[in-house]
Amino acid sequence: MFSIKSNEVIVVPCKSYEREEVAAAYAEIFKYFNKDKFDGKSVYIKPNILKGDAPEKASVTHPEVIYHAAKYFSDAGCDVKCGDSPNFITAKKMINSIYKTSGIPKAIEEAGGTMDNSAQGTSVKGGVYLPEFKMLTNILESDIVINIAKAKTHSFTGYTGAVKNLFGVIPGPAKPELHLTHPNAKSFTNVLIDICETVKTDLHIVDAVIGMEGPGPSSGMPKKLGAIVAGTNPYAVDEVVIELMGIKKGKIEQINLARSRGLTEKLENIKILGTNLKNIKSSYTPFKDAVLSSASYWKVLAFLLPMDLFMKAKKKPYVQPNCVSCGVCAEACPPNAITIEDRAVIDYSKCIKCYCCQELCPAKAIVIGKKQNVSRKTN
Ligand code: SF4
Ligand code: SF4
Repeated sequence: MFSIKSNEVIVVPCKSYEREEVAAAYAEIFKYFNKDKFDGKSVYIKPNILKGDAPEKASVTHPEVIYHAAKYFSDAGCDVKCGDSPNFITAKKMINSIYKTSGIPKAIEEAGGTMDNSAQGTSVKGGVYLPEFKMLTNILESDIVINIAKAKTHSFTGYTGAVKNLFGVIPGPAKPELHLTHPNAKSFTNVLIDICETVKTDLHIVDAVIGMEGPGPSSGMPKKLGAIVAGTNPYAVDEVVIELMGIKKGKIEQINLARSRGLTEKLENIKILGTNLKNIKSSYTPFKDAVLSSASYWKVLAFLLPMDLFMKAKKKPYVQPNCVSCGVCAEACPPNAITIEDRAVIDYSKCIKCYCCQELCPAKAIVIGKKQNVSRKTN
């Protein structure tokens, strides 16, 4: 279907989201597609829609990057669907509203596809760390699955790209439960890899035109990177994107685990199709607390300390004065550690430091490790 080997990754320069520029980048990627095999197939495009920020905030896959992939398959005679499991919700109205803010429905409609807000899950067998889970039924039943992620640093896992984007195949409230049962970066990343191994994804594309730096996946700042990266092996694709971002590999648990599980090669053994990585390379700084959770001395600490002491050493989330009491964080918090009064109040005796609240707060009112002058003692 795609003439890209597992150890090959396509890297195409793309400096902006102007239609012509993204089209030119995709033309390089399309060279590796075998168009006559697609006619009549059902195609599912899985973007990163998260909680539905506007594209300029760089937390969602840019609609222009979605458009060209959708148009290609639509023109090839495929039935194209696009969807995600945004936030932890399943209500169609809310999903539609989140989708709309991302700008993706307009791009999909223009390309001849339809958005999927079904949020229905079907149980599937997983792997060693996640033996069984529910994934979006429409993804499971599609002939071709295209994962189109966003390049970002991440508060909990250090980095999010192709592999972590597939966490969004799990519908609704099952996601926070996994944070609860896998509270440290290593076990959670093993779960992500199990999910990634279970979802039969044909192609992984990362929107690395403008990435996010800082407390991602939603509270960081946009930062130019200048590429679209694609391949059939998500671990190899992420390895290359992490290299482009200039993040030290030892700091990202996903790299260590994917290599130790035999799922990818070292960068020097990955064949780059397209431009030389040196033409694009940037210098992203991973979010500090995520670095701490995977740095070597921290691993030693995690090994030496009982889990409760290790968790205590991680930084706390703090509610800031700009909280608008919307309740999104309380709904998402896996151990129900948040109550809403005149603002959100965190019970730190229950908090597992998964940072879901920070990830989903629409007002960016939760900051990791930064206490501010607020009236309540609990925060
Ligand atoms: S902290 Fe954020 S998500 Fe939670 S109630 Fe306040 S504004 Fe809403
Ligand atoms: S308060 Fe925030 S960081 Fe703590 S458990 Fe709840 S969602 Fe996770």
